[in-house]
Amino acid sequence: MNATRVLVLNSGSSSVKYQLIDMRDATRLAVGLVERIGEQTSRFKHTCLTSGDTRELDGPIADHDAALKAVAEELARDGLGLDSPELAAIGHRVVHGGMFFTEPTVVDDAVLHEIERLIPVAPLHNPANLTGIRTAMALRPDLPQVAVFDTAFHTTMPESAARYAIDTKIADRHRVRRYGFHGTSHAYVSRATAHLLGKAPEDVNVIVLHLGNGASASAVRGGRCVDTSMGLTPLEGLVMGTRSGDLDPAVIFHLQRVGGMSMDEIDTLLNKRSGLFGLCGDNDMREIQRRMEAGDEEARLAFEIYVHRLKKYIGAYYAVLGTVDAVAFTAGVGENAAFVREAAVEGLAGLGLAVDGARNAVRGDEPRLVSPEGARVAVAVVPTDEEMEIATQTYALVGKNS
Ligand code: ADP
Repeated sequence: MNATRVLVLNSGSSSVKYQLIDMRDATRLAVGLVERIGEQTSRFKHTCLTSGDTRELDGPIADHDAALKAVAEELARDGLGLDSPELAAIGHRVVHGGMFFTEPTVVDDAVLHEIERLIPVAPLHNPANLTGIRTAMALRPDLPQVAVFDTAFHTTMPESAARYAIDTKIADRHRVRRYGFHGTSHAYVSRATAHLLGKAPEDVNVIVLHLGNGASASAVRGGRCVDTSMGLTPLEGLVMGTRSGDLDPAVIFHLQRVGGMSMDEIDTLLNKRSGLFGLCGDNDMREIQRRMEAGDEEARLAFEIYVHRLKKYIGAYYAVLGTVDAVAFTAGVGENAAFVREAAVEGLAGLGLAVDGARNAVRGDEPRLVSPEGARVAVAVVPTDEEMEIATQTYALVGKNS
């Protein structure tokens, strides 16, 4: 192919993040972010990585259409415009692909329709993702637009892991099952972990811990996901920045019947005012560390609850996999917070899990081992790169089709 560039677009409800990548050598040519779309105080930051130029624009950007046009203009100023014959495709992050989308998919009307049909199970994300795709299609109707789904990697989960133990007919009618999220990251990190061990992904079992503001764990056997901690929505599983993760569903009935809260209030409580934030008023792990070091008991308890849940998932996925080659930490907390990694495996020497203090303290951007030499199970830090994974999957698909 002569066209070797892929533009990756991640359209949120009020933001657009993008990266232009040349797939010949996986070089990033430009990156940027438009924030607060639809407000008077929109912000746009664009960096051309070939020249090192960064431009920041403040001022109202009315909608996604205006945002993408602004992105296209900035790219054009750097000689990287969307009309370039070198652009092979645009790859879009789409959060919810349901059971239908198991792989990256070239977008056509039927695909748009199916993403739209999934809005009831992803009301916050899919509408924004759709807007981004439609706007990009209008700008370059001739170019392949590829949807890469956060759920796709998890569609290999067996029914035993994907189903909730509720009435099957009701579950099927309303598409209630465990879909999982962060799949692009789990796919990338599990594969990169295998490479770090010098093995093929098919030959290793990995527990991936994606610990960002949102957090999820997955059990990956031979490159295929067999369980993950998020469910119908990203609320299930680990304690997160502002989400509760697992709880007894009866808590919801109780808060409504006894607490007099509305469903919307409970939704906001569990998604936006729970997790670390709900427990101690902070969701940034750096701040929690600072407070703990200053002797703050509330922050300490929040941290202990966070780590307790994390350990339970490590143990559960160890049992699901039977044998484990590696536990890989990724995302903001997983990559940067050595004390979280240390606490997560503390006391698990019986499972072959430990970190080496000196190795764990080293910071860096490259995948690395933090377990002691000769450990039975490798503990790794593997920086995630969802944009590169979306670009890789997009480029592979359009290459196959051309
Ligand atoms: P998301 O993409 O879900 O917004 P990230 O993967 O960027 O999240 O992770 C964000 C989180 O990473 C922050 O809330 C912060 O708690 C944590 N984090 C970032 N840097 C550090 C650090 N040096 N030490 C501890 N935690 C960190």
